[in-house]
Amino acid sequence: MTTRLKLAVWKFASCDGCQLQILDCEDELLVLAEVVDIAYFKEATRHEDPGPYDLSLVEGSITTAHDAERIRQVRAQSRILVTIGACATSGGIQALKNFDDVAVYKSIVYATPAYVSSLATSTPIADHVTVDYAIPGCPIDKTMLLRFLSALLAGRKPDIPTHTACVACKHSGVACLMVRGIPCMGPVTRAGCDALCPKFARGCFGCFGPSETANVDALIAQWREMGVDEATIMRAFHTFQAWAPPFRQVGDVVKSQTSPSRGASQGQGRQGHD
Ligand code: SF4
Ligand code: SF4
Ligand code: SF4
Repeated sequence: MTTRLKLAVWKFASCDGCQLQILDCEDELLVLAEVVDIAYFKEATRHEDPGPYDLSLVEGSITTAHDAERIRQVRAQSRILVTIGACATSGGIQALKNFDDVAVYKSIVYATPAYVSSLATSTPIADHVTVDYAIPGCPIDKTMLLRFLSALLAGRKPDIPTHTACVACKHSGVACLMVRGIPCMGPVTRAGCDALCPKFARGCFGCFGPSETANVDALIAQWREMGVDEATIMRAFHTFQAWAPPFRQVGDVVKSQTSPSRGASQGQGRQGHD
């Protein structure tokens, strides 16, 4: 026996990719519509019902004073608030600005920086309001989202993985890339994507963020032994989930080891990692 959920989906600083994962459910959306009332979802429909809402899915990070206020309003009208994706759960790729002077980024990105009103940092939703659950990924995995929603609807505790991508990788029968000399962040990355990249012989680059007991130091030591250079190590941790501890501490090393011309070197680094 299930209860209909009144659902709201909110966007803060983000690329919309996690909301698109909801829309990408396609076939499942018809089933969902029977058990969920989509009351507010601007990416999908102009129709909106006022709160309160049973469930709010929140995409994006807090990067403006207005958003810092808006998330409090969202929290006030949500019984359950769930962050979806790296932006909402750890500040996202835009949290790279947290390691530097935001004025540097504004001057590089915008033709007229004076018109841009932005906080100095990009911070996760949990830094501002109480978050009930966090669904990781950049973007989130739609199967994980659907499992999460069915657990809520059935009154079960949602099972969001906290173990590493390596566990899922081994279950899939993939031969470990690391023993073939390919750097992989699987040992410190949270499961949830079913080891998507290793299945295609590509090292994981940590888009699901740190696992519960991520031993970053051990992985870095192993990568160094494999001959991975320092810049590559730093870029690997200093991208999608740069502000999520303990990846954040590796980012701090980047800051301490780079020169005042860092703005330029960061740009080169991101291109190299893509
Ligand atoms: S987590 Fe990734 S896919 Fe989701 S909104 Fe942020 S940048 Fe986009
Ligand atoms: S390929 Fe990566 S994710 Fe898979 S077992 Fe090896 S280190 Fe772990
Ligand atoms: S293997 Fe790693 S980088 Fe690839 S999708 Fe999964 S978590 Fe993201």
